Amino acid sequence: MRLTLLLSFTLLSACVVTRHPVTPAALPATTIAEAELITLLNTPGPIVHSVHVSARWATKLSGLVNLDDPKAAALVDGETPIVLPVHRLVHPSAGVFVVDTGVERDTLQGESGPVKGVVKLALKGATTVEPLGDVLASAGAPIGGVLITHMHLDHLLGLQDVPAGTPIYVGAGETTAKGRGNLMLWRTIQSALDGHAPLRSFDGAGASPLGPIPQAYDLLGDGSLWALSTPGHTPGSMAYLARTTEGPVLFTGDTCHTIWGWENNVTPGSFTADHALNATSLNNLKALAELLPGVKVYVGHETDGEGTGVDAP
Ligand SMILES: [Zn+2]
Repeated sequence: MRLTLLLSFTLLSACVVTRHPVTPAALPATTIAEAELITLLNTPGPIVHSVHVSARWATKLSGLVNLDDPKAAALVDGETPIVLPVHRLVHPSAGVFVVDTGVERDTLQGESGPVKGVVKLALKGATTVEPLGDVLASAGAPIGGVLITHMHLDHLLGLQDVPAGTPIYVGAGETTAKGRGNLMLWRTIQSALDGHAPLRSFDGAGASPLGPIPQAYDLLGDGSLWALSTPGHTPGSMAYLARTTEGPVLFTGDTCHTIWGWENNVTPGSFTADHALNATSLNNLKALAELLPGVKVYVGHETDGEGTGVDAP
């Protein structure tokens, strides 16, 4: 009886995402005046962006979209096709950055990938399209950093294709977020992080407002690549903004999973930790996009919307 109780307690008690070491990102404050920022961001920049579908998967719509929102009244829950995207950003002097990691070359193939135990079963049905290693190999420049939107498993599965020592950035408090499901994911997340340097955390130092975003980080000091604090989906969720040769490109992460959610300003469903805070962050991103005419917006789990996301009536 005691053993059963102990086991139940262990399984039900919330544990942190990972004990992998974390260090402050220690970025200097931007030198660009706030009044000039929006004008600068509306000007094409030096970064070449390409979007890559790393894997295809399907999950429940009620996790991706808040079906209790009156705007979602016509939507029906069910398995919904999504993608695990990697956004590659090539800067002429700082190298290659990726927003999220897709899947690694070995993921879901044989036993050598990072996906362990029951998680392997949960990810059954996922198919690899372009692993992160291939995305990096074809970039033609060395990697400068990995920009994690948040530390849910489906954003970490490509990390073993990243060379050890590469700076990996995450939001503040992201590794210590507690959740009952973390215990089940523990081995898989440890395998993804194995061999990597301490994660660099956006802890507020060097942050400044960027339009409606309270905390933004000028990652390269030239105003071309920004990390935007958008808590809610997870405590340290981040979005990113790049000044590309095609104009501004915004990556929402899972503050918004679907194109339908972005267009209708409806937050994610059960996959989000703090719905009110997620709504505030999504509103902030929508307000930022209003200031950037012509901005290209990429949500967390769709690229072109063809064959994925909400099948709206
Ligand atoms: Zn996700």
